[in-house]
Amino acid sequence: MQLLDGKLLSENIKAEIAAEVENIRQKGGKIPHLAAVLVGENPASQVYVNSKIKSCEQVGFKSTLIQRNADVTEAELLEIVQGLNNDPDVDGFIVQLPLPKHISEEKITLAIDHRKDVDGFHPVNFGRMAQGMPAFLPATPFGIMEMLRRYNIETAGKHCVVLGRSNIVGTPMSLLLSRKGYPGDCTVTLTHSRTRDLPAEVRRADIVVAAIGIPQFVKGDWVKEGAVVVDVGINRIPDATKKSGTRLVGDVDFDEVAPKCSHITPVPGGVGLMTVTALLMNTLKACRKEIYS
Ligand code: NAD
Repeated sequence: MQLLDGKLLSENIKAEIAAEVENIRQKGGKIPHLAAVLVGENPASQVYVNSKIKSCEQVGFKSTLIQRNADVTEAELLEIVQGLNNDPDVDGFIVQLPLPKHISEEKITLAIDHRKDVDGFHPVNFGRMAQGMPAFLPATPFGIMEMLRRYNIETAGKHCVVLGRSNIVGTPMSLLLSRKGYPGDCTVTLTHSRTRDLPAEVRRADIVVAAIGIPQFVKGDWVKEGAVVVDVGINRIPDATKKSGTRLVGDVDFDEVAPKCSHITPVPGGVGLMTVTALLMNTLKACRKEIYS
């Protein structure tokens, strides 16, 4: 069993991006600039946004953090989005989800200029991705694709079972893996809460991508010998042996599943770090106008 080491990989990719930024700087070019909008006090969102800002600093990007209290109005937030759309110095920006209930996430997502949508959530980017056109790919699936590519995981003709059909992970993952080219050319089964006999579906998989949000859900006897397992889940469970009283686990029961795999991502240290790195890759693409001129 080999670990798909998201920490090592993201450090390597960040070093490549930092070298590129240095190159841009020496030539007097424009330094990539990512802005992040954080609303409210959700602790997980604060951790994610802080890690995105810190990663920008690590690679030499410019970053801007815009914070608002949870009682910000939808109109005020839309104004912030318009401001970022119109700011020529901002190459890309994200509005961290989830948003408070009184704000429509759909309205906010649609208001973001798709040319600056480095989270890849705008329907223009999603549609272009689905048709195999150049697009900002959603950060988590993009990070997973990069991971499969850099570890030379064979995908052509493989049967991939994706667990979860969210717009940000499961559904785009199923599209990307079924697309022509590498990594891709998989035969994909997309499973969800209404799937019958999920263990039987997973047992057929050469590649498993688990993104459901239930701690340690995928068990050892669900997984075929030699399968590649990508665990997207980030779940906090009680653990009396830890000082904090909790620890992070994925959607896969790592101890049971790892011995059966050819490759598996750990949690933490797997997909989560690649997600942040993918956001940096998208921001660099935005700055270079690689997707949209
Ligand atoms: P979500 O909550 O939007 O959707 C969950 C999906 O799981 C749904 O499509 C649902 O049909 C499916 N599901 C729920 N119960 C199921 C069951 N019993 N059997 C089969 N399918 C079931 O999910 P999301 O936003 O994609 O997040 C999934 C997990 O991934 C969460 O733990 C989240 O924290 C994590 N996540 C991690 C990253 C990262 O960077 N590593 C990024 C996004 C999400």
